[in-house]
Amino acid sequence: AIPVITLDGPSASGKGTIAHLVAQALGFHYLDSGVLYRLVALAAMKHAIAAEDEPNIVAMARCLNVSFVDATVQLDGVDVSEAVRAEICGEYASRIAQYPTLREVLLDRQRNFRELPGLVTDGRDMGSVVFPDATLKIYLTADAEERARRRYKQLIEKGINANIADLVASLRERDERDSKRLASPLQQCEDTHLLDTTGFSIDQVVNQVLSMYAD
Ligand code: C5P
Repeated sequence: AIPVITLDGPSASGKGTIAHLVAQALGFHYLDSGVLYRLVALAAMKHAIAAEDEPNIVAMARCLNVSFVDATVQLDGVDVSEAVRAEICGEYASRIAQYPTLREVLLDRQRNFRELPGLVTDGRDMGSVVFPDATLKIYLTADAEERARRRYKQLIEKGINANIADLVASLRERDERDSKRLASPLQQCEDTHLLDTTGFSIDQVVNQVLSMYAD
């Protein structure tokens, strides 16, 4: 089978950064599954579809015209790499991600990324639902304050105003919503490795993942 490394975890746990670097180190493909939820959110917002309107959200997801070109993500041929990162997009994504019908529609799209020489993917349910037969499954965590500090740094670097207390509150709220729906680390398959990154550098975590894969 084509190798797959899954990195699941809460928002701002660093899984995206780590997954991207691990993919680079191994020469593997990379899928940020959160981007798919964000793209559906963006498309829905553009068409003024309310997050409560499940049938239309799902219809939108079915015909979503997405392409990944170089390091950019395009919706209907337009580069939306920046737009999908907006907080409002993440918020909207987390609301619609609760619809099982939407998750179902996105399954095949995600599985199609499994190509040679291999795939590194990050999300919430990559190891538990999308790639249950993954080669290596990791659940990354970090405490909410540390995640808020990381997100704060990212936002400030992009020139976006932010407030740590608000970020902690919004991360906790999103964790809460996600945890109602998604398997907690302990409920995840017993083959999932728990990796708490609080206090570790990016390099240290990347190396740890690489050595787990090599084992
Ligand atoms: O990880 P990111 O913040 O980009 O994801 C946005 C939202 O999409 C998350 O808050 C989560 O609710 C949802 N999501 C999901 N399953 C995934 C990836 C993301 O439900 N595999």
